[in-house]
Amino acid sequence: MIRYVSTRGGVAPTPFDRVVLEGFAADQGLFVPQRLPRLSVHDLQRLQPLSFPELAGEILSLFIDPASVPRADLDRLVSQSLAAFSTPEILPLRPLAETPDTWIMELFHGPTLSFKDLSMGFLIRVMDYFLEKEGRHLNLLLATTGDTGPAAAHAVAESRFIDCWPLYPAGGISPEQERQMTGLQTDRVHPVRVSGCPDGVNDLDLVIGKIFGDVALKEKLHLSSVNSINWCRVMFQAVHYFYGYFRVCDALDDSVVFSVPCGAFGNMFGGFLARTMGLPISGFVCAVNRNQALETLFSTGLLKQQPLCETLSPAIDIIVPYNFWRYLYYIAGEDPAKTAAWMACFEKTGELQLPPDILEKMSRTHKAISISDETTLATIRRVWATEGYLLDPHSAVALAGAERLSAAFGPAAKTVCLATAHPAKFPAVIGRAVDYPLPQHAFHPSLSTSSDRSTLGGSCPLPDLYRYLVSEIGKRSSHG
Ligand SMILES: *Cc1c(COP(=O)(O)O)cnc(C)c1O
Repeated sequence: MIRYVSTRGGVAPTPFDRVVLEGFAADQGLFVPQRLPRLSVHDLQRLQPLSFPELAGEILSLFIDPASVPRADLDRLVSQSLAAFSTPEILPLRPLAETPDTWIMELFHGPTLSFKDLSMGFLIRVMDYFLEKEGRHLNLLLATTGDTGPAAAHAVAESRFIDCWPLYPAGGISPEQERQMTGLQTDRVHPVRVSGCPDGVNDLDLVIGKIFGDVALKEKLHLSSVNSINWCRVMFQAVHYFYGYFRVCDALDDSVVFSVPCGAFGNMFGGFLARTMGLPISGFVCAVNRNQALETLFSTGLLKQQPLCETLSPAIDIIVPYNFWRYLYYIAGEDPAKTAAWMACFEKTGELQLPPDILEKMSRTHKAISISDETTLATIRRVWATEGYLLDPHSAVALAGAERLSAAFGPAAKTVCLATAHPAKFPAVIGRAVDYPLPQHAFHPSLSTSSDRSTLGGSCPLPDLYRYLVSEIGKRSSHG
């Protein structure tokens, strides 16, 4: 039987459906599998030729008890969650001409043009599946600065038992991202534009925290969330790495480095999970922008809360890389007592200094680097000029990071850079990197203003948000 425990060690072994629907473990730790599945060379050879959906079915089945989701249902949920992708390969890989042995893996061919569509589409469908069995309805409440809200809203539009309430700070997201939520044709999505948020999404998280902290209210309103710590999302993200590795390697002894633009460390944790399961990845470049908590952490072992800076790659403007705790749990040898003590120390003091032996283990597989906005723009400009290929700012951070650090894992490595968003989501940044008129690649039909049917959603000033949500969600729950 496949069961989950908490990185803090405070919950009984929990089945997959509870893990998905609850998100956080009750002891405020993160869910991890009780035993991690391991793959032999023989298993890997068997998986190598599979298509992305077939591979996803195989990998996910290692984490989901068939009593909870029978294999045929799992395969159906995977294929439904990938149905809206615009390429049959799902994640096409493109070799770069100017840098040998380097590929861009495009994770942005889903309906809202960011890699969040991959794991979010699957998570929402799995939730819907469990809710149908239980005869229940859920309201998902989340605050978004960028890509999470559109991905969740799009997936929920097709669900039967879920309503989604994405909150966003007025002016804090791009008009393209706003339209991806307000232009949907559904009565299940209720975007809320919140005015007067000096601390951006942080202000919204405080209101959500207050509502979730009231257990009776949370129950009454059937509330849950789908943020990046949900195990279902990180598990799905491991599949990206298996697929990328298999596409660039003929044999299983090639040396491959992945470069990942990191925010909450969820995507990167997927890579670490794949490696821990037995995929022979040489190492990871953890590429960040001026919000450099991860760079400090991987170079000194110090995790420290620093003020947020706004950059040209907003989806990775993050102060605390929350999935890092999961990573740390494995680095410490799956030791919940150590992890719990570290988390408690950080919560209490806003700071954590990791011991040298832990830092040494971390640096064997991970190197982190902070990339400036100037370098991000220069990378977009150069790759457009030399390759005729347009990177979005987050993907540019990953490539710039790879160019500086790939060689640190030894010579002759193949490098796969994760491209996490389509450039059309960030036309203002692209306009600063390349000359006008912008190339055709800077646009996408799904984002053109002519398809603007912005009809959904309400708006509310921050001081009224709590009352607004309780009343609006309450109305919806009563005839759920
Ligand atoms: C969310 C996001 C990231 C960061 O992913 P994490 O899992 O939070 O590290 C990177 N790029 C884009 C475009 C994103 O939307």
